[in-house]
Formats: sequence, C-alpha cells, structure tokens
Amino acid sequence: MKIEFRKLPTVKKDFSTSLLSVKFEGTFCKISSTLAKFETTLRGTIECACCRCSETDTLDLDETFDFLVSDRVHKNEESEDLIIELNNDIIDFDEIIQSEVASFQSEYYLCDTCKENNEDFEKEF
Ligand SMILES: [Zn+2]
Repeated sequence: MKIEFRKLPTVKKDFSTSLLSVKFEGTFCKISSTLAKFETTLRGTIECACCRCSETDTLDLDETFDFLVSDRVHKNEESEDLIIELNNDIIDFDEIIQSEVASFQSEYYLCDTCKENNEDFEKEF
C-alpha cells in the first residue's frame, strides 16, 4: 500500500494493511503542509532469533506506533516524535512495517531456555 504525500487528507482517515503476519492499522492525516501524523498499531507475530543460541522463536507483537511523516528534511529537535522523512513524495506502508519489524528483531532477545539458564547463572553469583 502506497499513498502520495500531497494527496493525504487533512481529516483523519482510517487505514488497514498488512505485511507477512503483521497487521498495521490506524489513522493518518496532514497536520501541516509538510507534516502528516500517523497513529497506528502493529499486531501480529514476528520471528526473532535468540542472541545466545540463534534459535528462532515467534513473538507476539502488539505495539502502539505513532509517528510523523515529512516530505522534506525536518529540523525539529524539540520534538520527541519519530519523524520519517520521505525521499520522494510516496509513503510506502510496507516499507514502514518492514523497518519497524526489523527494529524489533534487532533488539536483544533471549529464548526461554537461555533466559532460564541466565537466571540460574545470576542466582549462583
Ligand atoms: Zn537461546
């Protein structure tokens, strides 16, 4: 699913899309001529690899994911919001899901077995 930035509505619009087993839904609207606000949730399951034994596991994802999209480089350092800057005028929803899923997968993750071993390890010392 893709949408042109200049075609974004100024009133909140619902959307729902999915990629692999992740459902991405919420609302979006333009809040200024250069910024659009997205209030979304990511739900589904993703595969994560254990940092210790590389065993893959599926994790349930249920995350609120709010961000701004700008069609130009945005220098708003006071803002805590995540701003996605577009390289062109196109907002590519698949790309946003992919990069968000990748960031979850790159987080430190231990499988249950390693987590237990880790706790035993911590108890002994
Ligand atoms: Zn492990």
